[in-house]
Amino acid sequence: MEDVKSIKKIDIHAHATAFPQYFPPFWGGGQRFISAEETIAFYDRLGIEKGVLQPLVAAEAKTTPSTTEECKYIVDKHPDRFILFCNVDPRAITNTPDADFSGILAFYKEKLGAKGLGELTANLYADDKRVDNLFGACSEMELPVTIHLVPDFISYGLVDELGLPRLEKMLKKHPKLKILGHSEPFWSEISADNTNETRGGYPQGKIIDGKIAELMRNYEGLYCDLSAGSGTNAMTRDPEYTARFVEEFSDRILYGCDFTATSNTHPFKLTETLEKMLDDGVISPKNYKKIVRDNAVKLLKL
Ligand SMILES: [Zn+2]
Repeated sequence: MEDVKSIKKIDIHAHATAFPQYFPPFWGGGQRFISAEETIAFYDRLGIEKGVLQPLVAAEAKTTPSTTEECKYIVDKHPDRFILFCNVDPRAITNTPDADFSGILAFYKEKLGAKGLGELTANLYADDKRVDNLFGACSEMELPVTIHLVPDFISYGLVDELGLPRLEKMLKKHPKLKILGHSEPFWSEISADNTNETRGGYPQGKIIDGKIAELMRNYEGLYCDLSAGSGTNAMTRDPEYTARFVEEFSDRILYGCDFTATSNTHPFKLTETLEKMLDDGVISPKNYKKIVRDNAVKLLKL
């Protein structure tokens, strides 16, 4: 058992700045965006070898933009600790559904070594024609995409309704595209009793097999990103259901942190939860290994 726990994890969802000294505080408080070195200090405590560094380029993203170029700078500085994702706003180039993203994505993939695209946080419908266009380009380029879903046009992230009909439309339309689902409105759909009141937060209690399982069964392209409070909440609210969920979808669930500030603590809770499930025999050593490392290696062809 100890052997499995000592396996070096991969964090599928990281953000960081190379220039903390230039970064304004956010959320009105004293916190600012986490630096690459602060993230690495967390990684050393959590047994994480590498994190997938995701730029944030949408105007609605909760911080000042974090570009692909800045993330590449960090990856070059710490090649043993970070893996690059690129990011392009669906409204970039022409703000139309026929913007040609092939050149920029090919550059990021082939010249900079980007392994995927994300985090997609533009506050547009999940099936907006411009988002659809970007999904098509990513599918063509074989770049997995991390999405942040939100319930409405109030924040950052792709907008979808209860039951995620727009995401489902995109999964159906782009069968070869790999989409990593993340955030509260994604994970709250794990239970069939999700409502418009609960979907924006962290619903508790027993899980009734819900939309996430249905989408996972019907669409091979959907992957589950466990990062942030939403992933941790989904994994901890009903351990019996979680055991079945992990067993059934063990090839498409990925460990993630989503550190954005040094005050974040949720990745410790997720890590403890997974280790406890391993200790209790709720998840097999094989599935634990897949979640914390092997699935990322396979998905990103590392
Ligand atoms: Zn997010």
